[in-house]
Amino acid sequence: MRPVERGDAPQVFTNYRDAYPFLVQRLGDYCNYCERQIETHLAVEHVQPKSPVPALRNEWSNFLLGCTNCNSSKGDTLVVLTDYLWPDSENTMSVFSYSEGGLVDHQDGLAPPLKAKALATITLVGLDKYPGNPGREPTSADVRWQRRLEAWQKAEWCQRLVAENDTEQVRSLVIEVAKGRGMYSIFWTVFHGDADIRKRLREAFAGTSHACFDANEELLPRPGGQI
Ligand SMILES: [Zn+2]
Repeated sequence: MRPVERGDAPQVFTNYRDAYPFLVQRLGDYCNYCERQIETHLAVEHVQPKSPVPALRNEWSNFLLGCTNCNSSKGDTLVVLTDYLWPDSENTMSVFSYSEGGLVDHQDGLAPPLKAKALATITLVGLDKYPGNPGREPTSADVRWQRRLEAWQKAEWCQRLVAENDTEQVRSLVIEVAKGRGMYSIFWTVFHGDADIRKRLREAFAGTSHACFDANEELLPRPGGQI
């Protein structure tokens, strides 16, 4: 899950929907949970849901961008922020792992409290919904698992392109492919050991928290975060 910074509030909002273009400009047109690029039906996501917490309905610091699947999985669950790990406050790259086929899990070696929060976050937004996972079968409208699988395959294809023809043009093409799909974390994972591609990804995806990466594009603890 890409760690992001939305920056300071661009204005005071009286209708949260007005924040949408600012969020897309700051964070890109990607769901902040499943990371898909979304042409339509990407929405202002309330970290604290607006029904049970109306005071934060129009509060910039409570906004992210969410797709319909992540939104509906999360629903109106009243969240205690500290029970989960959020992409706008933690280095979520250190929290979640992406593996062959685009499966999402917690990173190995997390301290038990962080592991519990990582798993709670995965469950909250439904990133564990894939065919064959008992009790977590996705609906036919939820193809996030499929998009992750495709992104993983596409990232590996890109990796082969670079291996066969390592030029500036090919590296630029890889970034364009990644931007078109979203799935920053999957491309970042597949391109382990390639700091140049990781740097290009970080710079190409608007709003990525630069503070979460060192000069070699390895992970750093997020200032002010738990990890
Ligand atoms: Zn999503």
